[in-house]
Amino acid sequence: MMFRYLTLTLLVVAWHSVASNISIRTSNLDEEQQQKVESWLQQGLQAVETTLAPIPQPAIDIRVKGASEAMEPVPWGQIIRNSPIQVLLYVNPRMPLTAFIDDWTLYHELSHLYFPYLDYPSFWLSEGFATYLQYLAMYQGRIIDRSQFVERIQQGLLRGMHTTRDKPGRLSDVSADMWQTKAFKRVYWSGAAFFMEADLQLIEQGQDLTELVATFSHCCLTEQMTGQELVRTLDVISDTEIFSQLFATYRYRRDFPDISARQLHILASHYH
Ligand SMILES: [Zn+2]
Repeated sequence: MMFRYLTLTLLVVAWHSVASNISIRTSNLDEEQQQKVESWLQQGLQAVETTLAPIPQPAIDIRVKGASEAMEPVPWGQIIRNSPIQVLLYVNPRMPLTAFIDDWTLYHELSHLYFPYLDYPSFWLSEGFATYLQYLAMYQGRIIDRSQFVERIQQGLLRGMHTTRDKPGRLSDVSADMWQTKAFKRVYWSGAAFFMEADLQLIEQGQDLTELVATFSHCCLTEQMTGQELVRTLDVISDTEIFSQLFATYRYRRDFPDISARQLHILASHYH
């Protein structure tokens, strides 16, 4: 009885160290696995919040479900736009903490919280942002180093480029259809390239994307927007036309964007 009480107290104390607007619920995990998951969530939240800003919602529910047969540490993550917003994560609880920390899924899903829900043809914007941010948060959180940051993005871009050959059409059409056509890699990585290009232009002007999205999440985040409204708002906040101009080209793109190693190193140097 005493032991049980002690364990419960420790769990409650640990869970209090996560911000009060965040509740965590787990299922199919033993107590040790819960502690591991808690440590993982804490470091992931810290990496994303340090990179962008505190989680913008007044409340979120993080639900973690154990799936011991999964081949990956985090085989599935999803944002469910209920009230409050839910972050759903499936994990293989038998994998070590280091494997969880090195998996991009948590950083990706948390990054979605800083953007509104968009129209289907603009889904490449939300997935692109989360795809770029997953590695930016891992890099700023010192989970990956400079060469891993560059390499992982290059590998992703390469997968996106290969998928473009098999999934032709305008990015906005492919984006609206991606669940049927499984064009995820093209959609995600074209969108990531969009935000890398925008970030490079912002950096040249003495701003950057993380700062801008932090401001956006305070002033302007709503539950839903169109892609067009989102890029206009980002233009207003940055006092540029960077986002609308890139959007006008990217939405109709049939090719895969070209981001060079030199450009990735500029981003890596900026965020070092
Ligand atoms: Zn996503």
